[in-house]
Amino acid sequence: MKITKISVYQVDLPLKEGRYSWADGKFVECFDSTVVEISTDAGVTGFGEVCPLGPFYLPAYGPGARTGIAELAPHIMGEDPTAVGRIELIMDRALLGHSYVKSALDMACWDILGKQAGLPVSQLFGGCHGEAVDLYRAISQEDPETMARKILGYRDEGYRKFQLKVGGNPDADIERIRATRKALDGGEVLVADANTGWLMHEAARVIDAVSDLDVYIEQPCKSYEECLTLRRRTARPFILDENIDSLQAFLRAFGDGAVDAINLKISKVGGLSKARRLRDLAVSLGVAMTIEDSWGGDIVTAAIAHLAHSTPARFRFSSTDFNSYVKVSTAEGAPQRVDGKMKAPQGPGLGIAPRRESLGDPVAVYD
Ligand code: MG
Repeated sequence: MKITKISVYQVDLPLKEGRYSWADGKFVECFDSTVVEISTDAGVTGFGEVCPLGPFYLPAYGPGARTGIAELAPHIMGEDPTAVGRIELIMDRALLGHSYVKSALDMACWDILGKQAGLPVSQLFGGCHGEAVDLYRAISQEDPETMARKILGYRDEGYRKFQLKVGGNPDADIERIRATRKALDGGEVLVADANTGWLMHEAARVIDAVSDLDVYIEQPCKSYEECLTLRRRTARPFILDENIDSLQAFLRAFGDGAVDAINLKISKVGGLSKARRLRDLAVSLGVAMTIEDSWGGDIVTAAIAHLAHSTPARFRFSSTDFNSYVKVSTAEGAPQRVDGKMKAPQGPGLGIAPRRESLGDPVAVYD
């Protein structure tokens, strides 16, 4: 089988809630997503998606994904997409870094391999564990009362895990965490995710002020060194996200005892191939994961579901159903949240079929 054509689509994904806000005044109202379609001489086609969380969350942005795909397309044209490991190597040799750019192409190759094998990607990744995957709901940064009140609606949707967007004014953040924890039941999980937004002294104040609460602290400061210092000063369970952008970064954090859990995002580490490798290592080392991506629509959500559902249940801290946050559906067959959980699609590959009317015409075609 050979790759004969790569079509690239740009899709706007506006948010149902209007705006998603996090640390340091950052927000997004409409996500810029990139969908790739890889065509082959065997008539099998595969789809992948990459959707950065705006241009200022990670070193990634929408037009950058499409520029990078233009750079990579000639290198994988004519190659066998079912040789996913070889495609990964070719992309890493052709373009140093820029991990997120490779994610949609890698995802589309897994979709093709699954379709060719007649198996869902979750099966290629080791098979599903349990009935469904628990989801968390991110709570956009607002005033403390609003954030605590929103818990009630999200709970009606079945969520039992909540990720509070903090990393703002430390005094307001202390109130955000205390008000939200008060609104929760004992069995419900609360993560305070600062998304690198605090300086050391601010993080130290907030973490100390909530030391009597059942709350996880996620990525308080920008650098790994700052986070490690804070981690060593607190008994709160500790999660790193932005700093865990590679297998090497994870191994360093594990070796330093810097994490109780990690946030594994597919495009942050360069695609499903690398995410699956990191996932398997984390399971071997006994580290639980939030398995998700930066953002995305139906295709990313399906990929998350395959990776998460094929992870042993104990190691699934949570996952995200991004397709429920946005107004546009780009594919049929994508996971739908039921009672705060989702399942990996059962069909071969990613188990989804694109909605052509949502993708529109390709913005670039390489053949
Ligand atoms: Mg995070």
